[in-house]
Amino acid sequence: MIASEELMAILILGIMIFLFGIVIGSFLNVCILRLPAGESVAKERSHCMKCGYTLAWYDLIPLFSYLFLRGRCRKCGEHISAQYPIIEALNGAVYVLVFYLYGWSIDSAIYCLLASALIVLSVIDFRTQEIFLANNGFILALGLIHLGFHLGDWVTLVIGLFAVSIPLALIVIITHEGAMGWGDVFLMGAAGLLIGWKQIVFALIAGCVLGSVIHIIRMRFFGADRKLAMGPYLSLGIMIAITVGRGFVDWYFGLLHL
Ligand SMILES: [Zn+2]
Repeated sequence: MIASEELMAILILGIMIFLFGIVIGSFLNVCILRLPAGESVAKERSHCMKCGYTLAWYDLIPLFSYLFLRGRCRKCGEHISAQYPIIEALNGAVYVLVFYLYGWSIDSAIYCLLASALIVLSVIDFRTQEIFLANNGFILALGLIHLGFHLGDWVTLVIGLFAVSIPLALIVIITHEGAMGWGDVFLMGAAGLLIGWKQIVFALIAGCVLGSVIHIIRMRFFGADRKLAMGPYLSLGIMIAITVGRGFVDWYFGLLHL
């Protein structure tokens, strides 16, 4: 039965990619906590926020420790934020999706790292209304590495660097950072270099539409602030552009002969 053996192999590979994703996800949680505080991401062992209990290795197994401890500290029973397992599971799921779409390729590795950077950026921006240069710098570095592997597409990619970032920069200057910040501009520049101008234009439109709809709902029903952090929505737009939206983008711009 070759078919079922193949299916088994794909399943095992998927589980391994997911496990790798949740390990990276737990590192993302450290970044989310320590980047805004200006702390080193490799400094000290994690500990309980309430009682100071230093987590042992068996408390630090991504996703599974949280489930096993039912979201509480082993020592004092304090609730552990659900953010940790959610970020880990999300990162694992996105890695599986990216590998499913792009296969065993350098693009899969780069897009996975992009997704992780966007997760960190989104959570920090949502909480602090700030996008850190280190975060955007990492995405820019990914963009340059990707460019090195796709020199034949350099025109599309370099246009991507400016296609959205320049119009956004004008909006930031005109509105004195009222609607968006420089962090959003750098994000769309760096991500634009990585994914190309068609995808980044799509990402902007998708991000703005989703941002408007979701934010209005959050303001109406959850009493959210009028001020809107764009980072999470732009990130979502970028992720849609390189995953489920990719076929649509190619089809649409194909109609325009672009
Ligand atoms: Zn504790």
